[in-house]
Amino acid sequence: AEPGSAAPEWVPHPDNAVIARSGLENFERVFGRRPEGIWQSPGRANLNGEHIDFLGGRCLPLALPYGTLVAAAPRTDGLLRMRTLEPTLDEGIVEVRVEDIGPGRPEGWTGYVAGALWGLHEVAECTPGISIPEGFGADMLIRSTLPVGGGLSSSAALECASILAFAGMITGSDEHDDARRAALAHACMMAEVRVVGANTGGLDQTASLRSHAGQVVSLDCRDFSITYRPADALLDGHRLIGVDTRTPHWLGGHEFSSRRLDAEAAARFLGADRLRDLLPETPSQDDVETVLRRWEDAAPTAEQLVGRDPGDAFRRLRHALTEMLRSEQIDALLAGETGVSVPCAVGRILTSGHASMRDDAEASFAAADLIVDTALSAGADGARLIGGGFGGSVLMLVPEQNVEAVTEAVAAAVVKAHLPSVRFLDIQPADSGHLVCR
Ligand code: ADP
Repeated sequence: AEPGSAAPEWVPHPDNAVIARSGLENFERVFGRRPEGIWQSPGRANLNGEHIDFLGGRCLPLALPYGTLVAAAPRTDGLLRMRTLEPTLDEGIVEVRVEDIGPGRPEGWTGYVAGALWGLHEVAECTPGISIPEGFGADMLIRSTLPVGGGLSSSAALECASILAFAGMITGSDEHDDARRAALAHACMMAEVRVVGANTGGLDQTASLRSHAGQVVSLDCRDFSITYRPADALLDGHRLIGVDTRTPHWLGGHEFSSRRLDAEAAARFLGADRLRDLLPETPSQDDVETVLRRWEDAAPTAEQLVGRDPGDAFRRLRHALTEMLRSEQIDALLAGETGVSVPCAVGRILTSGHASMRDDAEASFAAADLIVDTALSAGADGARLIGGGFGGSVLMLVPEQNVEAVTEAVAAAVVKAHLPSVRFLDIQPADSGHLVCR
């Protein structure tokens, strides 16, 4: 590194077994008894498919080696007692009566944990093998190994680790087949929408609960069916690196919801329940342009768009359609259907995805734009903002031999621009949530 430049800071891969051992001790200190088990569920990165899960598009997430651990023991008095070890959120034990959980209750971070139990109650009736005993509650201790609020789905990791703990304690088994895992993911999504009150389309929860190590999850959000694509060709001589911009997206909730309203209004104007239905099974650039021309010919007014601004709605439409196309293109590349160099082609698509997030979704921010530009000039094959936007993380695809140059350039660029110093995460597709120890 040049004198005065910042050395890149990496977030090491957590050793869940080691963390679980200290978790056992902490649990006993906090709750005065031993936990029944410790469960972990991962955060996620998304190769492509931001802001389109709720429109029925394809998303390409992969589970991270980083996530959230929950140590838990059951109760029979209908109480949920929760504590997080996340320094900025820890307020000691928070106690909630299970019967009081509902829309907006409890508020704050405990809503994700309590919401998971609420969601499990919602799906229990139609999920074979899940029967929740009267008065079921739990003591729960939480610890994350990924940045909280960093666009890597710490919230979904928390919900999913919690629901695995609940399901494990209730059934006495931690072997859940894919149908059960899909039901649990749906329960967590409902929890986030109804209890926490956040607009989520199910991508994050699916990635956390239904991933496989070494695979990209090719998720069709029309029916939440998955095709697993091996990541080997993508990672051949390359690394996927996350950049935590340390710009939390706390203030992005309202903006994100407004993007969703724009896109949904555009879909409805074009006569589609789900925007994805306007494109054929295997869409081309021409198909995207045909829909965009239809829009331009119709030139809808704000009144026809339930009050949404027509210019905004058009840009959200263009982001969503091109993002859907990019997902199908990457999916075909990962399926080995094209015969071209996968990292190089995927890299280009990542970068055009960033331009779309910046210009059409208008969800980017200064640090992300700077990091993407810097990474590309320093030798990355591609880079883009991932997560909902307005803060969060950047994903870079970097040839092995350029990793040092790219991370050093990015670390130096943010310092020079007086932005928060970044942290790098080495992303290898990990397994979905599971029991760590009992
Ligand atoms: P992210 O991109 O990380 O999912 P969100 O804003 O969607 O960001 O979710 C972050 C929120 O999730 C936190 O504000 C907190 O309420 C909750 N959360 C995540 N991890 C933890 C944790 N370890 N302990 C307590 N709450 C957590």
